[in-house]
Amino acid sequence: MTTPFVIAVDGPAASGKGTLSRRLATQYGLRHLDTGLSYRAVAHALLSADLSLEDEAQAVEAAREVDFAGLDPLVLSTHEVGEAASRVSVHPAVRRVLVEKQRDFARVAPGAVLDGRDIGTVVCPDADVKLYVTASPQVRAGRRHREILRLGGQAEYGAILADIERRDARDMGRADSPLRPAADSHLLDTSGMSIEAAFLAACAIVDEALGAKN
Ligand code: C5P
Repeated sequence: MTTPFVIAVDGPAASGKGTLSRRLATQYGLRHLDTGLSYRAVAHALLSADLSLEDEAQAVEAAREVDFAGLDPLVLSTHEVGEAASRVSVHPAVRRVLVEKQRDFARVAPGAVLDGRDIGTVVCPDADVKLYVTASPQVRAGRRHREILRLGGQAEYGAILADIERRDARDMGRADSPLRPAADSHLLDTSGMSIEAAFLAACAIVDEALGAKN
């Protein structure tokens, strides 16, 4: 394989795209980047310094400092940071800085799986495979609720559903790089599907693209 092989995985919050992307990266020997963590890192930097999430200049500074090798999912995965990330991600200048870094990541051989909201539409419009992973808000809220309970936490289903719906509205409604499927993406609606079935369906799509490329 000469040029890097890139798989773009987009979808709304709690759609299962992260788990799917990690499995695809392992299966095909590719590097993996959760681009949501880069927006979370910017949000976390602003929150930690007590700076406003609306301050675009400070957010750009924080974006320039983001080092993909040093992103700590444990620190960045909290609900508060996710909510703040969806607010800083509306700044076009922040997106420009992070998108350049994400493209640099995708360019390195043998290629990568990138997951996020705008990978197939903006970051890697020439990706070899584009997947749009989704599920109904109710199914996504149910999965997240069970996951929190399984880890011993406490959460209310109705509050999680409201959060998911608010995040969807913000991510799909923003002016710059809104969440939407690329015209040439494969839609994977996992509402009635196990993660295993979604993985197998994705592998069939990737195998076909690999066959065409080699
Ligand atoms: O995927 P995750 O929930 O970690 O993303 C956090 C927030 O970062 C999203 O709600 C979205 O607003 C933003 N994001 C984005 N573009 C991406 C990845 C994430 O705008 N490629």
